[in-house]
Amino acid sequence: MVNEPRPFRPRISARLAYTLHAGLAPNPFYRRLAAFVEGRPRLARWFTSGERAVKERLFGCRMCGQCALPVTGYACPMTCPKQLRNGPCGGVSADGSCEVDRSLRCVWVTAAERAGSAGRGGDLDLLQRPADNREWSRSSWLNYWQGRDEGLTTALGDG
Ligand code: SF4
Repeated sequence: MVNEPRPFRPRISARLAYTLHAGLAPNPFYRRLAAFVEGRPRLARWFTSGERAVKERLFGCRMCGQCALPVTGYACPMTCPKQLRNGPCGGVSADGSCEVDRSLRCVWVTAAERAGSAGRGGDLDLLQRPADNREWSRSSWLNYWQGRDEGLTTALGDG
């Protein structure tokens, strides 16, 4: 059961997140590891629970299984109450607060600030494909290492 989406402010800096991510980039070792884990259902459940515990605490992750964090300044778009993956709705206020809960900052404002501060503002120009709802509750790390995320984003105009 996934929690209700509420804008979440990441608990680690964008720079640290980009640095940590560099150590998780897909390579033959991680691909073999992912295949090994996926071949053992109990291990896969433990692995996925571990991922959930870490990412829920750090990023408010809701386990959509197709992680957008690397191109959103590590602000999770699935914590947007409208779960918008391609920028804010028209309701974001001039002070950056969320239309649904004015006490919270719009996650896309947070994303722009964090990506910009790390020199990655251009990531927000990428078009994110719709999330595949069949992937909910699956491990995005395993999907990432298995190369299943490769079509998640595309430059505008690439179709
Ligand atoms: S896996 Fe999905 S829900 Fe979790 S942090 Fe990434 S984008 Fe957000």
